[in-house]
Amino acid sequence: MNTYRSNPRDASGFLKQAKKQLGQNFLHERGIIEKIVLALSPKANERIVEIGPGQGALTLPILEKVGKLTAIEFDRDLIEPLTRAAHASGGELNLIHRDVLQVDFTALANTLGGPIRLIGNLPYNLSSPILFHALAHAPAICDMHFMLQKEVVERMAASEGSKVYGRLSVMLQAYCQVTPLITVPPGAFRPAPKVDSAVVRLVPLAPEAIQVQDRAHFAHIVRAAFAQRRKTLHNALRDLCDDAHIREAGLEPQMRAEQVPVAGFIRLANQTCQNGLR
Ligand code: SAM
Repeated sequence: MNTYRSNPRDASGFLKQAKKQLGQNFLHERGIIEKIVLALSPKANERIVEIGPGQGALTLPILEKVGKLTAIEFDRDLIEPLTRAAHASGGELNLIHRDVLQVDFTALANTLGGPIRLIGNLPYNLSSPILFHALAHAPAICDMHFMLQKEVVERMAASEGSKVYGRLSVMLQAYCQVTPLITVPPGAFRPAPKVDSAVVRLVPLAPEAIQVQDRAHFAHIVRAAFAQRRKTLHNALRDLCDDAHIREAGLEPQMRAEQVPVAGFIRLANQTCQNGLR
């Protein structure tokens, strides 16, 4: 059964029952949509790829600016109306009907002819898996503009010493520049989520600027260090390295993970990896 109905308030002219399990909170506030498009600043020759275009709140304004866009949407019920809305706008929408976690961004970038720019008001239940999936394809990505829960953006951008500094902060900042851009209140969405949201820009570091030598080992050290936040490095990492290694990395065994800067984790991981401690 077709659940769409025409709704003049909606950016794309159609509205459907949101599917909670797909994290569907559709943006409707024009001012916020304009700010996001301005922050993205899309250019005609760029390969822009949107994750979860939904009802086209961002898709259609971006298409209007650049004429061409690739989008990945999992909800079958949205494919036909979105295709129709894009067509009516005169834009060229390459709509991929798939789970974004199954999309190989490197292959997609190759198909499109070069590195891509990712944008998306992400389904919040999948935000971390999508972030890590994108990071795994960082060389194929110029930048990412994502709407996430504000609390997640704060964790992503936090520095050592902050209450919200943790594994997500370290794992992202080791590979990307993280810049929070816009705070978005619940009322900007339909249905309104319970929490504030925020848009963040992630720019992957150039390969030569990435200091991590062994990604799996680095991830292992960071996970172990933050597994119990209150533990000292001495206790949390006792199976992975000894106090001498911690000191050689310029850290103190009595420090807790939340006090260790990203560069400190990188030194510790690189050094224990060189010492064959893996
Ligand atoms: N971009 C639209 C907007 O801003 O109004 C919709 C954003 S809504 C928060 C998230 C979108 O992601 C929905 O359209 C949802 O169907 C889609 N989605 C959810 N899970 C997905 C997945 N695994 N792969 C691709 N899209 C997904």
